[in-house]
Amino acid sequence: MATDYYELLHVAPNATEDEIKRAYRKLARELHPDTSGGDPAAEERFKEVTVAYETLRDPERRRRYDMFGPEPARGAGAGAGDPFAGAGFGANLGDLFDTIFGAGGGGPRGPAGPPRGNDLEVTLTVEFEEAVFGAQREVSLRAPVACATCEGSGARPGTTPVTCSNCAGTGEVRRVRQSILGQMVTASPCPRCGGLGREITSPCPDCRGEGRRTEPRTYTVEVPAGVDDGNTLRLTSRGAAGPRGGAPGDLYVHLRVRPHERFQRQGYDLVHVLHVPMTQAVLGVHVAYETLDGTEDLVIPAGTQSGRVFRLRGRGVPHVNARGRGELLVQVVVDTPTDMSPEQEELMRRLAAERGEEVAPPEKGFLSRFRSAFK
Ligand code: ZN
Repeated sequence: MATDYYELLHVAPNATEDEIKRAYRKLARELHPDTSGGDPAAEERFKEVTVAYETLRDPERRRRYDMFGPEPARGAGAGAGDPFAGAGFGANLGDLFDTIFGAGGGGPRGPAGPPRGNDLEVTLTVEFEEAVFGAQREVSLRAPVACATCEGSGARPGTTPVTCSNCAGTGEVRRVRQSILGQMVTASPCPRCGGLGREITSPCPDCRGEGRRTEPRTYTVEVPAGVDDGNTLRLTSRGAAGPRGGAPGDLYVHLRVRPHERFQRQGYDLVHVLHVPMTQAVLGVHVAYETLDGTEDLVIPAGTQSGRVFRLRGRGVPHVNARGRGELLVQVVVDTPTDMSPEQEELMRRLAAERGEEVAPPEKGFLSRFRSAFK
């Protein structure tokens, strides 16, 4: 290959790195086997152009080329001078794909970075009122957190991770194989550094190179007003720390709400079944009624039927992250007295007679015998 590299790339001998890169990208698009339809001549030129680019993109190699011309057998060993021979092909083709299709079109893509930590979950039981009005609660759990000794790097203090010797810091290993469609390049995370591109030669003694340790942690949870049993809150970045400085996952807090002794929730409404004696239902009453917001005067008017519902607006559950509250629904159930004294029964019989309402005759049972014994 006696051709001048600058000529091959159609650039001037004093072209900038940028000009060389742009010229190569343009040519590579035209000559790439995928676009040229497998034309052998195009493929040959593609290889030549790539060799030229590989040389001129590297300042040190470009300097040597300018002084000494092309290196016939670069490096050591058979075929090492030809980037398309053996394993070298994969490496160069990898760069090439990145050059053509990469976002910035710049050099090789960097490694993926350490993986994100796992999401964690805990269950938090709150009181009924805490769910209605909101609360600040704490949750404690054992979770992987960034190792304080090495600040998450995994490297023994005083040392730093070095570029992985297996993947040269790319975090990827690429293999080329032949298929009926041509050469296929497969990339997989580097097994040595786990895709991080950097390896630890001297691991931190406290986390054995993990960059994280499992420790007890306590976090404050802001329980918003209006949450209900079964709701889940997310605490961003309170999950497990990622290995070797990876971002933490999230912490999911599943809420359990203890039941209230009087109130049932129906969405944002509260429901309470209020038992009142017959006399109060008949004659009416003012009840000192305890809502979740304090005691209120609940007026049960004379003649209230069993089953009637009184609505206390704005005394229900606040909407989560919104204005407004539900209602408190008080359903009245009139209790029929079952513990009547003889005098009370007598009064009832007189009332029934007064109202012309037919009732069953007095029972000839325990009550009447008891009564006659003391008369
Ligand atoms: Zn450590």
